[in-house]
Amino acid sequence: MDYKEYIRVIPDFPQPGISFKDITTLLKNGEMYREAINDLKKLVADLKIDVIAGPEARGFVVGAPLAYALGVGFAPIRKSGKLPGETIEVGYDLEYGKDTLAMHTDAIVKDQNVLIADDLLATGGTIATSVNLVRQLGGNVVGAAFLIELEELNGRAKLPDIDVFTLVTYS
Ligand code: 5GP
Repeated sequence: MDYKEYIRVIPDFPQPGISFKDITTLLKNGEMYREAINDLKKLVADLKIDVIAGPEARGFVVGAPLAYALGVGFAPIRKSGKLPGETIEVGYDLEYGKDTLAMHTDAIVKDQNVLIADDLLATGGTIATSVNLVRQLGGNVVGAAFLIELEELNGRAKLPDIDVFTLVTYS
């Protein structure tokens, strides 16, 4: 399936020089959305997964239906201050400035196998931070799955010991 036909590329968003991969044009097509999740499910079929963890907001759009399809749990990774229970937090650098991601301390049980899911792998900062959170909670990260990988940003370099699964690559 050529998912690129359904992904809209918007130049100069959110700032000049960035070519944004807009997945809303894929998501609104029910057949394609379901096919993309089913294809991701096939890519991770050999993994033993107990829980999927996904960062807000687009990680929910990929991770939650994948968890449903696999019959496993979903653990949200959120920006600081959004989760109501006790949390751990990890800060990370953005291109401009800093941000913080958080998880509930009871989101993962020690030694659970965790797949991390998001819509897109760019520099890898979001997912490296997500891996850090899951590992701090005692989870065993068995892989990271994405709809899209932006190859030239080399996010995989930040995930040297993680198996990365992607449906669509832009070089
Ligand atoms: P990274 O941390 O790997 O540099 O950036 C990935 C994160 O930024 C993902 O959570 C993703 O949702 C968001 N992101 C960055 N660029 C794009 C883009 O072109 N399209 C979409 N849909 N998300 C992006």
